[in-house]
Amino acid sequence: MNQQPRRRRIGLLGGTFDPIHVGHLALAHAARTALQLDEVRFVPTGQSWQKVGSGAPAAARLDMVRLAVEKTPGFVVDDRETRRPGPSYTVDTLVELRAEVGPEPALVLVLGSDQLRNLATWHRYDELLRHAHIAATRRGSHRLAGFDAPLEALLAAHGRDALPDAPCGAIVFFRMPPVAVSASALRAQLARGERPLELLPAGVLAYIERHRLYRAVPHA
Ligand code: ATP
Repeated sequence: MNQQPRRRRIGLLGGTFDPIHVGHLALAHAARTALQLDEVRFVPTGQSWQKVGSGAPAAARLDMVRLAVEKTPGFVVDDRETRRPGPSYTVDTLVELRAEVGPEPALVLVLGSDQLRNLATWHRYDELLRHAHIAATRRGSHRLAGFDAPLEALLAAHGRDALPDAPCGAIVFFRMPPVAVSASALRAQLARGERPLELLPAGVLAYIERHRLYRAVPHA
């Protein structure tokens, strides 16, 4: 039988990861299973253009991502945005990656619904699907419905029930059990001196404590 090998699928999970937590890891595992990804690449932002005044420097956020994912087969850390000067735009990352992997593999940008709802504010958002698919899952109260007009238009043109056999161009939704954690809430807990061991990997908490990250800043 002359069976074609399945098209390789590379998932991309971008974020500030400030710090990386169990919600990010659950998202990566759920996406890998639901979308049959061969690999999930974690891509920490260098200079976050939408989140200002976040806690830790890029080098520390990158270290923590490495600590959290490096031992998981199929999970990879991609540091390109921390090395690139200027704001970290996802479209630039997709263009670079596409040039590296060639035209065949599917690139799948994995997003929580909070990010998807924001998509039309992203730099050159209308070009993203030329380079990748987008796969989104519900996060907390951020519904996967009732989007703004530009996103509704994108969904009308590109929404699919499942990833097609193509390198890019579709928007799909997938399910994951909710994991109620956010980096901002975690930072607040850490600043209060709490040790939320159930919300982040032990190695990441040890790193945070060793480097005295997310300590409360005394009021001026
Ligand atoms: P913040 O609290 O500062 O908004 P965050 O927890 O959302 O931070 P990011 O690094 O901005 O962390 O998130 C990266 C990606 O992970 C985004 O697509 C986001 O939707 C997704 N994500 C983060 N936390 C969760 C979670 N608990 N469940 C599902 N997806 C999540």
